[in-house]
Amino acid sequence: MTDHLHPDEAAIDPVKLDRLAEVAVKVGLRLQPGQDLMLTAPAAALPLVRRIARHAYEAGAGLVTPILSDEETTLSRFRCAADASFDRAPAWLYEGMAKAFSANTARLAIGGDNPMLLAGEDPEKVSRANKANSIAYEPALEKIAGFDINWNIVAYPGTAWAELVFPADETGAAVAKLANAIFAASRVDMDDPVAAWDAHNKALRERTQWLNGERFQALHFRGPGTDLTVGLADGHLWQGGASSAKNGIVCNPNIPTEEVFTTPHALKVDGHVASTKPLSYQGTLIDQIAVRFEAGRIVEANAARGQEVLHKVLDTDEGARRLGEVALVPHSSPISKSGILYYNTLFDENASCHIALGQCYAKCFVDGDKMTPGQIAERGGNKSLIHIDWMIGSGEIDIDGIRSDGSRVAVFRKGEWA
Ligand code: ZN
Ligand code: ZN
Repeated sequence: MTDHLHPDEAAIDPVKLDRLAEVAVKVGLRLQPGQDLMLTAPAAALPLVRRIARHAYEAGAGLVTPILSDEETTLSRFRCAADASFDRAPAWLYEGMAKAFSANTARLAIGGDNPMLLAGEDPEKVSRANKANSIAYEPALEKIAGFDINWNIVAYPGTAWAELVFPADETGAAVAKLANAIFAASRVDMDDPVAAWDAHNKALRERTQWLNGERFQALHFRGPGTDLTVGLADGHLWQGGASSAKNGIVCNPNIPTEEVFTTPHALKVDGHVASTKPLSYQGTLIDQIAVRFEAGRIVEANAARGQEVLHKVLDTDEGARRLGEVALVPHSSPISKSGILYYNTLFDENASCHIALGQCYAKCFVDGDKMTPGQIAERGGNKSLIHIDWMIGSGEIDIDGIRSDGSRVAVFRKGEWA
């Protein structure tokens, strides 16, 4: 067993780790003087937490409040806790987060936990705990999904995660490889990462401007195991790279990011689609997903691995069977070219076109920040407790944009922008 509290920190380049912290604060969050920051992280990511806190205070942050999770503590729960406790979650904590967001506190999440942590635990308990957590988290998620405040996710090369991604390597070498892959994907291996992000944001903005000018009614995906028409929501807006939160701060919610994305119409998705990468969902792996949609709803769902978990996810609520996001990523994206399967959505979704089950993003509507949940639903925006991205892109996928007069425009050919 690996001691997750003491990862091989020596394997991680401290200069690049410090640049990652700087990019998280200056690009990811664009933290404002006087603004408070709440951050969540695995305990093993403390070296990054501390660097982020220092950069945040140097940028004039008000209060920086870290909340740490610990893998051993989580495992103790699944192995020793009373059965009734699996239907509970710390609602008080999430209510506090929601309150903080209402007071303009920025939110940073550091990923890097062991993606397979719960793979050996009772799937029944895992799904009950996930559901209880989703319900309790809703007040906070609403403000994140509604983009009320500037928020950002970055990754730390956790030991167990590194061992999963590079199973043939010694622990130290695996951590070093994952660290370098994270640094490259997050554009902190260059001399001026902040300038590199400005250029990348500009390139993504050119894609979204073209798509927003076309105003496609639907996208048609074709590839192995896939023939799917994704109707787009009325008044949908393509987003990508930096965008403006409701508090007026232009931030980059995901570091890394390669996607442009928008809101599908919850009632207008038809056909079948096959996943092209495994999905790591809260500690379990769901692989080779194949689903069929009718009028926006998944009516048939299979997976070669993790099917039980998939079915439980789909039963979370009515919106869990419908799409809340569709995203385009070229097969030649730097993360895809690395050829690494990360078992982590933040990275894998940026290697591939993807769709997400569940909650849509209000910011993916024209004037979405002024719309009520009722108006979002009227235009086809989906509502759910969950938002789960899964990968459907590859070097073999073709995508057509369908205009309102039925004419078609090539958007992707063989996985690349046409
Ligand atoms: Zn996405
Ligand atoms: Zn998503």
